[in-house]
Amino acid sequence: MIYRSPKYYQDFRCIAGGCRDSCCKGWEIDIDSDTAEYYRSIGGEFGKRLRDNIRDGCFVLTEDERCPFLNGQGLCDIYTELGEENLCRICSDHPRYFEWFGSVKEGGVGLCCEAAAALILSRPFALCETEVPDEDAAGDYDEELFELLLRAREDMFGVLLNEDIPLYEALCEVLDIAADAQSCIDMPSDEPQTCSDTEAALHGIFHCLSELEPIDGNWKPYISKCAEKLGCAAESCREHETYLRRIALYLIFRYLMKSVYDGEVLGYAKFAAVSVIVISMLYRCSPAENGCCSFTDCADIAKNYSKETEYCEENMAELLERFRTEPFFAIDSLKLLLPRSL
Ligand code: SF4
Repeated sequence: MIYRSPKYYQDFRCIAGGCRDSCCKGWEIDIDSDTAEYYRSIGGEFGKRLRDNIRDGCFVLTEDERCPFLNGQGLCDIYTELGEENLCRICSDHPRYFEWFGSVKEGGVGLCCEAAAALILSRPFALCETEVPDEDAAGDYDEELFELLLRAREDMFGVLLNEDIPLYEALCEVLDIAADAQSCIDMPSDEPQTCSDTEAALHGIFHCLSELEPIDGNWKPYISKCAEKLGCAAESCREHETYLRRIALYLIFRYLMKSVYDGEVLGYAKFAAVSVIVISMLYRCSPAENGCCSFTDCADIAKNYSKETEYCEENMAELLERFRTEPFFAIDSLKLLLPRSL
């Protein structure tokens, strides 16, 4: 089968002990049944430690929400004791994501990881294809719809990759392409009334974000503080547009084809546009000595946003729902907001 992924995928390396925000903290880690069975078979002291620290198919997190096998050097004791090949599925895959469509598999690395975020923001977006052994993991889907979505995604890549088109204009076009595709499929999406007051719309979006279930305790206060500064945000910097364009390409690549299964083509396009609006405003509202948020800060902000939205199933579902009902998420509201935020 064909495996399609962004080219930078091949260069991803976990920075383990050098990571400032390890993925082994703050999440519940489910252990797949094959690995759980293997862990139960391990003898000796390490086997006992494994059994003592696994409950209901998950690692028992410490009080400060760390994986009990994450040691003081930021390294994994299971990796050291049993080898990389014996990590559970979620630990060996993360932050890689995969999606299967018949004889095509797509994947990449997720923005929620520090090392992946640095790659996504710093590398030009280009896809590559390789032959990989067949995997039978695709669900049932409509082949015609798949082709339609593939064409829609190609069109979106076309405008987003054309740097002569300002990013706000490209994203307006992405929304139109998605609306057209949505109207061709048998799951039309409701569209809320437009909010033409851009200040109110921006505050509405930030308020909506602050109502989501926080993953990191620092997120809510940070978002609220930035919301207070929206009216006096700094000018945007030229390099920010490059990072934001790459984030939009990552989101469109990662999510658009999923709509062959759930019909959320417009929802995913709105997610890309809203993410660019929010991350851009966070860049502009973050204090910086020379007035422009550094690359590291930009990558960190994008990573934190990703953790709180796309990496929480409930929050993602909530956002997709609100895209259908809140006036500030209407297509025309977003089209007014895009030039205001970038
Ligand atoms: S967040 Fe990324 S770089 Fe950090 S420990 Fe996890 S996989 Fe490694």
